[in-house]
Amino acid sequence: MQLLTYKDQELYFLDRPVKSYLPQPYQNPVYLYHGPFLKSRGEFYQRTLPQGMKSFFAMKSNHNVQVLKVLKDCGFGVDAVSQGEIEWALKIGFQPQEIIFSGVGKTKKELEYAIQNKIFQINIESLPELLRVIEIAKSLQQRPQIGLRVNPDISIESHPYISTGLKENKFGIDFLQLTEVVEVIEKNSEAVEFKGLSVHLGSQMLELEGFQEGLKIVSQKWSMIQKKFSTLTRLDVGGGLGIDYHKQDLNYEQELLKKYSQIITQVTQNLGCELMSEPGRWLVGHSGVLLAEVQYVKSQGEKKFIIVDSGMNHLMRPCLYGAYHQVFNLNERQIKVTYDVVGPICESSDFFAKNHLLSETLQGDYIAVADVGAYGFVMKSDYNLQTAPTEIFIDT
Ligand SMILES: *Cc1c(COP(=O)(O)O)cnc(C)c1O
Repeated sequence: MQLLTYKDQELYFLDRPVKSYLPQPYQNPVYLYHGPFLKSRGEFYQRTLPQGMKSFFAMKSNHNVQVLKVLKDCGFGVDAVSQGEIEWALKIGFQPQEIIFSGVGKTKKELEYAIQNKIFQINIESLPELLRVIEIAKSLQQRPQIGLRVNPDISIESHPYISTGLKENKFGIDFLQLTEVVEVIEKNSEAVEFKGLSVHLGSQMLELEGFQEGLKIVSQKWSMIQKKFSTLTRLDVGGGLGIDYHKQDLNYEQELLKKYSQIITQVTQNLGCELMSEPGRWLVGHSGVLLAEVQYVKSQGEKKFIIVDSGMNHLMRPCLYGAYHQVFNLNERQIKVTYDVVGPICESSDFFAKNHLLSETLQGDYIAVADVGAYGFVMKSDYNLQTAPTEIFIDT
Protein backbone atom coordinates (compact mmCIF):
# COMPACT_ATOMS: atom_id res chain seq x y z
CA MET A 1 0.00 0.00 0.00
CA GLN A 2 1.23 3.46 -0.95
CA LEU A 3 0.31 6.59 1.02
CA LEU A 4 0.77 8.81 -2.01
CA THR A 5 -1.13 7.67 -5.08
CA TYR A 6 -2.74 9.18 -8.17
CA LYS A 7 -6.49 9.18 -8.63
CA ASP A 8 -8.09 11.02 -11.55
CA GLN A 9 -4.74 12.59 -12.45
CA GLU A 10 -4.35 14.08 -8.97
CA LEU A 11 -1.93 13.11 -6.22
CA TYR A 12 -3.71 11.87 -3.09
CA PHE A 13 -2.29 11.65 0.43
CA LEU A 14 -4.39 8.67 1.58
CA ASP A 15 -8.01 9.75 1.08
CA ARG A 16 -7.74 13.38 -0.04
CA PRO A 17 -6.00 15.24 -2.85
CA VAL A 18 -2.77 16.80 -1.66
CA LYS A 19 -3.81 20.02 -3.38
CA SER A 20 -6.72 20.40 -0.97
CA TYR A 21 -4.22 20.98 1.83
CA LEU A 22 -2.30 23.75 0.07
CA PRO A 23 -2.95 27.14 1.67
CA GLN A 24 -4.72 29.63 -0.59
CA PRO A 25 -2.98 31.73 -1.63
CA TYR A 26 0.20 29.68 -1.51
CA GLN A 27 3.00 31.64 0.19
CA ASN A 28 5.88 29.29 0.91
CA PRO A 29 6.77 25.60 1.11
CA VAL A 30 4.72 23.39 3.41
CA TYR A 31 5.51 20.41 5.61
CA LEU A 32 2.29 18.43 5.77
CA TYR A 33 1.82 15.79 8.49
CA HIS A 34 -0.91 13.18 8.46
CA GLY A 35 -2.19 12.83 12.04
CA PRO A 36 -4.49 9.82 11.62
CA PHE A 37 -1.80 7.89 9.79
CA LEU A 38 0.76 8.79 12.46
CA LYS A 39 -1.64 7.59 15.12
CA SER A 40 -2.16 4.26 13.38
CA ARG A 41 1.59 3.87 13.13
CA GLY A 42 2.07 4.64 16.84
CA GLU A 43 -0.67 2.23 17.86
CA PHE A 44 0.76 -0.51 15.67
CA TYR A 45 4.16 0.00 17.26
CA GLN A 46 2.75 -0.24 20.77
CA ARG A 47 0.73 -3.36 19.94
CA THR A 48 3.64 -5.11 18.27
CA LEU A 49 6.50 -4.49 20.69
CA PRO A 50 6.77 -6.81 23.70
CA GLN A 51 4.15 -6.34 26.41
CA GLY A 52 5.15 -3.88 29.08
CA MET A 53 7.89 -2.24 27.02
CA LYS A 54 8.12 1.51 27.61
CA SER A 55 8.83 3.42 24.43
CA PHE A 56 10.31 6.89 24.24
CA PHE A 57 9.91 8.75 20.95
CA ALA A 58 13.24 10.20 19.75
CA MET A 59 12.02 13.78 19.44
CA LYS A 60 15.12 14.91 17.60
CA SER A 61 13.46 13.35 14.54
CA ASN A 62 10.38 15.61 14.78
CA HIS A 63 9.39 18.03 17.54
CA ASN A 64 6.16 19.36 16.08
CA VAL A 65 3.66 19.93 18.91
CA GLN A 66 0.81 18.03 17.33
CA VAL A 67 3.05 15.15 16.32
CA LEU A 68 4.24 14.90 19.92
CA LYS A 69 0.69 15.04 21.25
CA VAL A 70 -0.46 12.21 19.00
CA LEU A 71 2.44 10.05 20.14
CA LYS A 72 1.85 11.00 23.76
CA ASP A 73 -1.75 9.80 23.39
CA CYS A 74 -0.41 6.52 21.99
CA GLY A 75 1.53 6.07 25.23
CA PHE A 76 4.99 7.19 24.19
CA GLY A 77 7.39 9.10 26.39
CA VAL A 78 10.23 11.06 24.78
CA ASP A 79 13.93 10.56 24.30
CA ALA A 80 15.43 14.05 24.47
CA VAL A 81 18.96 15.05 23.45
CA SER A 82 19.15 18.59 24.85
CA GLN A 83 17.72 20.82 27.55
CA GLY A 84 15.70 22.49 24.84
CA GLU A 85 14.00 19.21 24.00
CA ILE A 86 13.34 18.40 27.67
CA GLU A 87 11.79 21.84 28.21
CA TRP A 88 9.70 21.44 25.09
CA ALA A 89 8.46 18.01 26.19
CA LEU A 90 7.54 19.30 29.67
CA LYS A 91 5.73 22.25 28.15
CA ILE A 92 3.68 19.96 25.94
CA GLY A 93 2.64 17.96 28.97
CA PHE A 94 4.97 14.99 29.23
CA GLN A 95 5.72 14.12 32.84
CA PRO A 96 9.38 14.09 33.96
CA GLN A 97 8.97 10.34 34.43
CA GLU A 98 8.21 10.03 30.71
CA ILE A 99 11.49 11.62 29.60
CA ILE A 100 14.92 10.15 29.09
CA PHE A 101 18.01 12.20 28.27
CA SER A 102 20.49 10.92 25.68
CA GLY A 103 23.42 12.46 23.83
CA VAL A 104 27.22 12.56 23.96
CA GLY A 105 27.71 16.20 24.86
CA LYS A 106 25.41 17.07 27.75
CA THR A 107 26.59 20.27 29.39
CA LYS A 108 26.74 20.94 33.12
CA LYS A 109 23.76 23.25 32.87
CA GLU A 110 21.72 20.68 30.95
CA LEU A 111 22.50 17.93 33.44
CA GLU A 112 21.60 20.16 36.37
CA TYR A 113 18.31 20.92 34.68
CA ALA A 114 17.56 17.24 34.00
CA ILE A 115 18.50 16.17 37.53
CA GLN A 116 16.54 18.94 39.20
CA ASN A 117 13.51 18.02 37.13
CA LYS A 118 13.82 14.36 38.17
CA ILE A 119 13.51 12.91 34.71
CA PHE A 120 13.15 9.15 34.27
CA GLN A 121 16.67 8.27 33.16
CA ILE A 122 19.90 9.88 32.01
CA ASN A 123 21.75 7.74 29.49
CA ILE A 124 25.43 8.31 30.13
CA GLU A 125 27.88 8.00 27.25
CA SER A 126 31.33 8.31 28.84
CA LEU A 127 33.35 8.21 32.07
CA PRO A 128 33.82 12.01 32.20
CA GLU A 129 30.07 12.43 31.79
CA LEU A 130 29.47 10.01 34.66
CA LEU A 131 31.89 11.97 36.86
CA ARG A 132 30.08 15.17 36.00
CA VAL A 133 26.69 13.65 36.85
CA ILE A 134 28.00 12.37 40.19
CA GLU A 135 29.40 15.77 41.08
CA ILE A 136 26.16 17.55 40.21
CA ALA A 137 24.03 14.97 42.00
CA LYS A 138 26.07 15.41 45.17
CA SER A 139 25.93 19.17 45.07
CA LEU A 140 22.17 19.19 44.42
CA GLN A 141 21.62 16.38 46.92
CA GLN A 142 19.69 14.41 44.37
CA ARG A 143 20.03 10.78 43.29
CA PRO A 144 19.31 10.62 39.55
CA GLN A 145 18.51 7.35 37.81
CA ILE A 146 21.10 6.58 35.21
CA GLY A 147 21.65 4.19 32.34
CA LEU A 148 24.90 3.49 30.58
CA ARG A 149 24.89 3.61 26.82
CA VAL A 150 27.27 0.89 25.74
CA ASN A 151 29.00 0.62 22.40
CA PRO A 152 29.20 -3.07 21.43
CA ASP A 153 31.33 -2.39 18.33
CA ILE A 154 28.74 -3.81 15.94
CA SER A 155 28.30 -2.77 12.35
CA ILE A 156 24.83 -2.35 10.86
CA GLU A 157 24.22 -1.82 7.19
CA SER A 158 23.48 1.86 7.05
CA HIS A 159 24.97 5.14 5.94
CA PRO A 160 28.28 5.78 7.76
CA TYR A 161 26.93 9.10 9.10
CA ILE A 162 23.99 7.42 10.85
CA SER A 163 25.78 4.31 12.08
CA THR A 164 26.69 4.78 15.74
CA GLY A 165 27.55 1.38 17.26
CA LEU A 166 31.18 1.07 16.15
CA LYS A 167 34.24 1.76 18.28
CA GLU A 168 35.32 4.45 15.85
CA ASN A 169 32.06 6.36 16.42
CA LYS A 170 31.86 8.90 19.22
CA PHE A 171 28.87 7.18 20.85
CA GLY A 172 28.60 5.04 23.96
CA ILE A 173 31.02 3.38 26.34
CA ASP A 174 33.10 0.54 24.90
CA PHE A 175 33.42 -2.73 26.77
CA LEU A 176 37.07 -2.14 27.63
CA GLN A 177 36.07 0.83 29.74
CA LEU A 178 32.83 -0.56 31.07
CA THR A 179 34.39 -2.25 34.11
CA GLU A 180 36.06 0.95 35.20
CA VAL A 181 32.85 2.94 34.70
CA VAL A 182 30.85 0.41 36.70
CA GLU A 183 33.40 0.58 39.52
CA VAL A 184 33.00 4.33 39.67
CA ILE A 185 29.23 3.90 39.96
CA GLU A 186 29.73 1.35 42.74
CA LYS A 187 31.86 3.77 44.73
CA ASN A 188 29.26 6.50 44.28
CA SER A 189 26.06 4.58 44.62
CA GLU A 190 24.75 7.09 47.14
CA ALA A 191 24.87 9.74 44.37
CA VAL A 192 23.43 7.87 41.41
CA GLU A 193 21.03 4.99 41.04
CA PHE A 194 22.24 2.60 38.35
CA LYS A 195 19.07 1.53 36.56
CA GLY A 196 19.94 0.27 33.13
CA LEU A 197 22.03 -0.37 30.06
CA SER A 198 21.13 1.14 26.74
CA VAL A 199 22.33 0.51 23.22
CA HIS A 200 21.59 2.33 19.97
CA LEU A 201 23.43 1.04 16.93
CA GLY A 202 22.42 3.67 14.43
CA SER A 203 19.57 4.66 12.20
CA GLN A 204 17.78 3.31 9.13
CA MET A 205 18.34 -0.39 9.95
CA LEU A 206 16.56 -2.52 7.36
CA GLU A 207 18.14 -5.84 8.21
CA LEU A 208 18.31 -6.99 11.79
CA GLU A 209 21.27 -9.32 12.08
CA GLY A 210 23.56 -6.64 13.48
CA PHE A 211 20.85 -5.57 15.90
CA GLN A 212 20.33 -9.13 17.09
CA GLU A 213 24.05 -9.67 17.56
CA GLY A 214 24.47 -6.36 19.41
CA LEU A 215 21.50 -7.02 21.65
CA LYS A 216 22.83 -10.48 22.56
CA ILE A 217 26.17 -9.07 23.61
CA VAL A 218 24.56 -6.29 25.62
CA SER A 219 22.17 -8.73 27.29
CA GLN A 220 25.11 -10.81 28.48
CA LYS A 221 26.73 -7.73 29.97
CA TRP A 222 23.43 -6.78 31.56
CA SER A 223 23.22 -10.18 33.30
CA MET A 224 26.76 -9.94 34.57
CA ILE A 225 26.34 -6.44 35.93
CA GLN A 226 22.91 -7.20 37.37
CA LYS A 227 24.46 -9.78 39.70
CA LYS A 228 26.26 -6.94 41.45
CA PHE A 229 23.65 -4.20 41.15
CA SER A 230 20.16 -5.18 42.17
CA THR A 231 19.02 -1.70 41.12
CA LEU A 232 19.70 -2.64 37.50
CA THR A 233 16.27 -3.43 36.11
CA ARG A 234 16.07 -1.75 32.69
CA LEU A 235 17.37 -2.62 29.26
CA ASP A 236 16.95 0.08 26.62
CA VAL A 237 17.26 -1.32 23.07
CA GLY A 238 17.49 2.12 21.44
CA GLY A 239 15.86 3.06 18.14
CA GLY A 240 17.03 2.89 14.57
CA LEU A 241 14.47 0.76 12.79
CA GLY A 242 14.39 1.85 9.16
CA ILE A 243 11.69 2.66 6.64
CA ASP A 244 11.54 2.03 2.90
CA TYR A 245 12.08 5.36 1.15
CA HIS A 246 11.86 3.75 -2.29
CA LYS A 247 8.33 2.47 -2.22
CA GLN A 248 6.39 3.11 1.00
CA ASP A 249 6.00 -0.63 1.52
CA LEU A 250 4.01 -0.52 4.73
CA ASN A 251 3.37 -4.26 4.91
CA TYR A 252 7.07 -4.95 4.69
CA GLU A 253 7.73 -2.46 7.48
CA GLN A 254 5.09 -3.98 9.71
CA GLU A 255 6.70 -7.38 9.17
CA LEU A 256 10.10 -5.87 9.95
CA LEU A 257 8.72 -4.45 13.21
CA LYS A 258 7.30 -7.86 14.14
CA LYS A 259 10.66 -9.48 13.50
CA TYR A 260 12.34 -6.75 15.56
CA SER A 261 9.96 -7.41 18.41
CA GLN A 262 10.53 -11.18 18.22
CA ILE A 263 14.28 -10.67 18.39
CA ILE A 264 13.92 -8.50 21.49
CA THR A 265 11.67 -11.05 23.17
CA GLN A 266 13.91 -13.97 22.26
CA VAL A 267 17.16 -12.38 23.34
CA THR A 268 15.89 -10.89 26.59
CA GLN A 269 13.33 -13.45 27.76
CA ASN A 270 15.46 -14.90 30.55
CA LEU A 271 16.71 -11.60 31.90
CA GLY A 272 13.61 -10.55 33.79
CA CYS A 273 14.29 -6.94 32.85
CA GLU A 274 12.06 -3.99 32.05
CA LEU A 275 12.36 -3.17 28.36
CA MET A 276 12.63 0.27 26.82
CA SER A 277 12.97 1.51 23.23
CA GLU A 278 13.62 4.84 21.51
CA PRO A 279 12.01 4.82 18.04
CA GLY A 280 12.09 7.89 15.82
CA ARG A 281 12.04 7.47 12.06
CA TRP A 282 9.85 4.35 11.96
CA LEU A 283 7.02 6.23 13.69
CA VAL A 284 7.06 9.57 11.89
CA GLY A 285 8.99 9.19 8.62
CA HIS A 286 6.12 8.38 6.28
CA SER A 287 3.65 10.76 7.86
CA GLY A 288 5.28 13.90 6.41
CA VAL A 289 5.29 15.35 2.89
CA LEU A 290 7.08 18.50 1.73
CA LEU A 291 5.22 20.63 -0.82
CA ALA A 292 6.98 23.19 -2.99
CA GLU A 293 6.15 25.32 -6.00
CA VAL A 294 7.91 24.92 -9.32
CA GLN A 295 9.62 28.16 -10.26
CA TYR A 296 11.41 27.14 -13.43
CA VAL A 297 11.88 24.16 -15.67
CA LYS A 298 15.26 24.41 -17.31
CA SER A 299 17.26 22.32 -19.81
CA GLN A 300 21.01 22.14 -19.74
CA GLY A 301 22.54 19.83 -22.35
CA GLU A 302 20.97 16.43 -21.80
CA LYS A 303 19.70 17.39 -18.39
CA LYS A 304 16.37 18.81 -17.33
CA PHE A 305 16.03 20.59 -14.02
CA ILE A 306 12.94 21.37 -12.00
CA ILE A 307 13.80 24.35 -9.78
CA VAL A 308 11.50 24.73 -6.79
CA ASP A 309 11.25 27.23 -3.93
CA SER A 310 12.60 24.78 -1.35
CA GLY A 311 15.88 22.95 -1.06
CA MET A 312 18.60 21.75 1.28
CA ASN A 313 17.68 24.63 3.59
CA HIS A 314 14.33 22.92 4.26
CA LEU A 315 15.20 19.26 3.77
CA MET A 316 18.82 18.37 4.32
CA ARG A 317 18.73 14.59 3.98
CA PRO A 318 19.50 14.38 0.25
CA CYS A 319 22.50 16.69 0.48
CA LEU A 320 23.70 15.34 3.83
CA TYR A 321 23.41 11.59 3.21
CA GLY A 322 22.66 11.36 -0.49
CA ALA A 323 19.30 10.12 0.79
CA TYR A 324 16.66 9.06 -1.71
CA HIS A 325 13.15 10.52 -1.53
CA GLN A 326 10.32 9.92 -3.97
CA VAL A 327 9.15 13.11 -5.66
CA PHE A 328 5.75 13.54 -7.30
CA ASN A 329 4.05 16.24 -9.32
CA LEU A 330 0.63 16.95 -7.79
CA ASN A 331 -0.74 16.65 -11.33
CA GLU A 332 -0.35 13.35 -13.10
CA ARG A 333 0.40 13.78 -16.80
CA GLN A 334 0.69 11.18 -19.52
CA ILE A 335 4.22 12.17 -20.53
CA LYS A 336 6.94 11.16 -18.07
CA VAL A 337 10.29 12.95 -18.04
CA THR A 338 13.55 12.39 -16.17
CA TYR A 339 14.48 15.44 -14.09
CA ASP A 340 16.82 16.61 -11.40
CA VAL A 341 14.67 18.31 -8.77
CA VAL A 342 16.70 21.12 -7.22
CA GLY A 343 16.32 24.12 -4.93
CA PRO A 344 17.22 27.82 -5.02
CA ILE A 345 20.30 27.58 -2.78
CA CYS A 346 23.71 28.51 -4.14
CA GLU A 347 25.24 25.02 -3.77
CA SER A 348 25.40 22.08 -6.18
CA SER A 349 24.48 19.79 -3.29
CA ASP A 350 21.11 21.52 -3.19
CA PHE A 351 18.89 18.81 -4.67
CA PHE A 352 15.90 16.68 -3.69
CA ALA A 353 16.23 14.06 -6.42
CA LYS A 354 18.49 13.22 -9.33
CA ASN A 355 17.47 11.56 -12.61
CA HIS A 356 13.98 11.14 -11.23
CA LEU A 357 11.16 10.07 -13.52
CA LEU A 358 8.05 12.13 -12.97
CA SER A 359 5.09 13.55 -14.81
CA GLU A 360 6.01 16.27 -17.25
CA THR A 361 6.31 19.36 -15.11
CA LEU A 362 5.46 22.97 -15.85
CA GLN A 363 6.20 26.28 -14.18
CA GLY A 364 3.63 26.91 -11.44
CA ASP A 365 3.07 23.20 -10.69
CA TYR A 366 3.56 21.89 -7.17
CA ILE A 367 5.71 18.95 -6.23
CA ALA A 368 5.56 16.67 -3.19
CA VAL A 369 8.66 15.16 -1.62
CA ALA A 370 7.61 11.97 0.18
CA ASP A 371 8.59 10.59 3.60
CA VAL A 372 9.99 13.71 5.19
CA GLY A 373 8.32 13.29 8.59
CA ALA A 374 11.62 12.33 10.28
CA TYR A 375 14.74 14.50 10.20
CA GLY A 376 13.02 16.96 7.87
CA PHE A 377 11.72 20.23 9.31
CA VAL A 378 13.90 19.81 12.43
CA MET A 379 17.07 20.07 10.33
CA LYS A 380 16.06 23.17 8.42
CA SER A 381 18.44 26.13 8.38
CA ASP A 382 18.45 29.85 7.70
CA TYR A 383 20.93 29.47 4.89
CA ASN A 384 20.43 32.14 2.20
CA LEU A 385 17.73 33.66 4.45
CA GLN A 386 15.01 31.95 2.49
CA THR A 387 11.58 31.88 4.13
CA ALA A 388 11.05 28.93 6.44
CA PRO A 389 8.49 26.30 5.50
CA THR A 390 5.09 26.24 7.23
CA GLU A 391 3.98 23.11 9.08
CA ILE A 392 0.41 21.92 8.55
CA PHE A 393 -1.03 19.08 10.56
CA ILE A 394 -3.94 17.01 9.28
CA ASP A 395 -6.21 16.17 12.23
CA THR A 396 -8.80 13.94 10.65
C1 LIG B 1 18.53 9.22 16.93
C2 LIG B 1 18.40 8.33 18.08
C3 LIG B 1 17.30 7.48 18.18
C4 LIG B 1 16.25 7.36 17.12
O1 LIG B 1 16.73 6.84 15.92
P1 LIG B 1 15.74 6.50 14.72
O2 LIG B 1 16.64 5.98 13.67
O3 LIG B 1 15.08 7.76 14.31
O4 LIG B 1 14.77 5.48 15.21
C5 LIG B 1 17.20 6.70 19.32
N1 LIG B 1 18.13 6.76 20.31
C6 LIG B 1 19.19 7.57 20.24
C7 LIG B 1 20.16 7.60 21.35
C8 LIG B 1 19.37 8.38 19.13
O5 LIG B 1 20.43 9.16 19.05
